[in-house]
Amino acid sequence: MLGIKVSKIDFWDKQRIKNHQIEKYLQKGDFIFNSNIDSRLKRSKKSDSKKFQDILDKSLSIQTLNLDETAYLLSVSDSKNLEKMKEVAFKVKKKVYDNRIVTFAPLYLGNFCVNDCSYCGFRKSNKYTKRKVLSLAEIEAETKILAGQIGHKRLIVVYGEHPANDIDYMVDTIKTIYKVEAEVKVEGKSKNRVGQIRRVNVNAPPLAIEELKRLKGVGIGTYQVFQETYHRKTYQDVHPQGTIKSDYLWRLYVMHRALEAGVDDIGLGALFGLYDWRYEVMGLVAHNRELEKKFGIGAHTVSFPRLEPATNTPFTESPKYKVSDEDFKKLILVLRLSIPHAGMIITCRESPQIKKESIALGITQTDASSKIGIGSYSDRSDNQEGLRQQFLLSDTRSLEEVIQEFAKAGSITSFCTAGYRCGRTGECIMELLRAGKEGKFCKLNAVLTFREWLDDFASEETKKIAKKVINREIQEIKQTLPGVFPQFMEYYDRVKKGERDIYF
Ligand code: SAM
Ligand code: SF4
Repeated sequence: MLGIKVSKIDFWDKQRIKNHQIEKYLQKGDFIFNSNIDSRLKRSKKSDSKKFQDILDKSLSIQTLNLDETAYLLSVSDSKNLEKMKEVAFKVKKKVYDNRIVTFAPLYLGNFCVNDCSYCGFRKSNKYTKRKVLSLAEIEAETKILAGQIGHKRLIVVYGEHPANDIDYMVDTIKTIYKVEAEVKVEGKSKNRVGQIRRVNVNAPPLAIEELKRLKGVGIGTYQVFQETYHRKTYQDVHPQGTIKSDYLWRLYVMHRALEAGVDDIGLGALFGLYDWRYEVMGLVAHNRELEKKFGIGAHTVSFPRLEPATNTPFTESPKYKVSDEDFKKLILVLRLSIPHAGMIITCRESPQIKKESIALGITQTDASSKIGIGSYSDRSDNQEGLRQQFLLSDTRSLEEVIQEFAKAGSITSFCTAGYRCGRTGECIMELLRAGKEGKFCKLNAVLTFREWLDDFASEETKKIAKKVINREIQEIKQTLPGVFPQFMEYYDRVKKGERDIYF
């Protein structure tokens, strides 16, 4: 395996978990144990219209719900009240994020893994997976396509857990991506412009504090780790004993370590389909509350991937806790209301139709033009795509198609990456989001970056569809932000003339 001796991998494995970085946070058990999720879910919830309205009002004032309030929403089943929840969820999203959708692309850098998660195509016992770790030159080539031919400005880089993808590799690869200046080329024609990735988010195995400080040092955006399942017994069942990943607490407390290390944009998530979806929603809300209580900073984003089929992975074929489309939409609704400030991410695991319906429930980010095979953006010759990717995708549309759909529905695609570059992260961004003020910057930056993308990458047809959205946004800025309007228009004109990366 990659020239790394098995004994060396074993040694690396054994060094990973630093118990002293977990123990200090435990208080007579971990915060999930102490949240009594089962009994909160079981307690009977008599319909109480005043209580229901109070919960919705609390959410609309952008306050995090407590676990009993979330459990109450999970118990709602009559169509009239579900409709009411949808209306409020939409208002919450509008208040915090307006009509903006952020897009990004995943970039899988290495699929060697020492773990053996039952549900994942990359698990070490899966002999059918084609293993690869991208070299820095290959990463440069992938980035050139993403930034120069598709027009992405944000990536999420994804790593398996293995000495070949260790922290040194992570730091080198992220630096490489930020350095790439790609020639913008559409249908083979150069546009005489430069495309760059401006925000690299990271989905990586749980790291130690000193490693997280290094990620902070290279300027990552969000650090994302999904707990997979908050249900301890299920967690142990799907993560075989003896693997690093079988350590539930090492994973559960990774965001505590991240915040301690100064990585303050954090992404929570659970893999839906491993256990009862209601339990996982409660787990996510409990996790967010714990971080808010301890650090004053909650989740920057929440993800809720549903289990997808993966090559030679029988576990994914008929999972006992498979989440239906109806339940999936309800879990998005309850999460939107329970953690109202958080960005919510839906990925190309979901079909275009489900994505469309979910956006109305409060989704704020999605990927597009995604390929999740290692090296798949540049290497299109391989017809064995399934063998080098982690699971199979449902939405394979291009970024342009997705943007067109959003624009037709009146949403603006934002390529804004200003937040972390201006220090609007962690506690600062939480305050702005809760006060509904983040939009002040984001609205301006959304228009500027959308215009950039349209000029550099869009077809005439897309430009025509998007023009209506842009014009409406500019009018809104004129009316609602008259103080900054002149400066905004000056920036907008500079973008029209070809200047790039101007932001508030
Ligand atoms: N190896 C790292 C880890 O496990 O934390 C990060 C990368 S892993 C490739 C990213 C995420 O993919 C996992 O956290 C898991 O939630 C998700 N995943 C794994 N198998 C999946 C499947 N069959 N369907 C959908 N998502 C899956
Ligand atoms: Fe490895 Fe992550 Fe897949 Fe588990 S989910 S096998 S840790 S890549």
